[in-house]
Amino acid sequence: MQDGVRNVVIIGSGPAGYTAAIYTARALLHPLVIAGVLPGGQLMLTTEVENFPGFPDGVLGPELMELMKRQAEKFGAEIIYENVVDITLGNPLERVPFKIKTDGGKEFLSWSVIIATGASAKTLGLESEKKLVGRGVSTCATCDGAFYKNKRVIVVGGGDSAMEEATFLTRFASEVIVVHRRDKLRASKIMQERAFKNPKIKFIWNSVVHDILDPAKGKVEKVILKNVQTGSLTEMPIDGIFVAIGHKPNTEFLVGKIEMDEQGYIKVQNGSTRTSYPGIFAAGDVHDSKYRQAITAAGSGCMAALDCQRFLESIGLVD
Ligand code: NAP
Repeated sequence: MQDGVRNVVIIGSGPAGYTAAIYTARALLHPLVIAGVLPGGQLMLTTEVENFPGFPDGVLGPELMELMKRQAEKFGAEIIYENVVDITLGNPLERVPFKIKTDGGKEFLSWSVIIATGASAKTLGLESEKKLVGRGVSTCATCDGAFYKNKRVIVVGGGDSAMEEATFLTRFASEVIVVHRRDKLRASKIMQERAFKNPKIKFIWNSVVHDILDPAKGKVEKVILKNVQTGSLTEMPIDGIFVAIGHKPNTEFLVGKIEMDEQGYIKVQNGSTRTSYPGIFAAGDVHDSKYRQAITAAGSGCMAALDCQRFLESIGLVD
């Protein structure tokens, strides 16, 4: 840190944020990680992770994140548990630092910023859904599918995620019913074919989830579906509901400051993590709606750290 200005502030603490922290800490850039009030990212919502290389027997999502955090701290990364509410753009080339404000009222100055705030699963917005999350309502089949052995479940959505989740769930569930608000899927042809061919998957078209019962009992017993064409309501007994209607990048605090696509994903320059603004880098799901894996996020955190280090060197802020 020079004159109260840090070399790099990393916003977010999923695999992308912690990997960026490990690399920038080992490069002696003394990073500050603003981890959020619910640190660890989406892996905190999972149980067993079986596809992260190096863990042949699997590892629990929260445990993996704790290990990454410890590894970052071991090399000197500083971590605070607040949310970023605003960034004032700086101009590191002319020695004007970025100003980063948190909801805890703190303000940090930095020559560079790595955004690794990830994405969150979209939800239906029902009160009952909110109350039953983790009690029969899930946004992650990979995480919770195994709890539905020989049960009947609904998957809401018509995109690739919904088809992927529905197909995956047939490993466990006796029946998977895809509920889609139109009569055509948005998913790619190959994913559609796979789902149509699977004898365990059924479709209910032109319908949305109107309500979920029974929050008072703390478990999912029934769903009330609404046909959007006729307006009619149908009650259906069900054991679980998987909401797969897309993800939303966590970029609200950056609107109007750096370039994003129409869904709010940060645009990066081809083959790098550089954003449209010099000194700001993006890593992980916040710029990647395609791969969305812990390992790809970690890889992109590493890229952001290296891009950031080279940027600071190129403008003479570090040796
Ligand atoms: P998506 O393509 O945006 O699809 C979201 C689906 O949810 C759409 O069918 C949409 O309906 C429906 N939906 C949205 N809001 C809804 C609401 N409030 N109520 C009911 N339904 C709602 O999202 P995604 O499936 O997560 O895919 C995101 C990106 O990741 C895509 O580019 C996809 O190709 C990619 N992806 C790829 C793979 C793979 O290749 N293996 C796997 C997963 C995701 P409408 O169709 O009516 O809009």
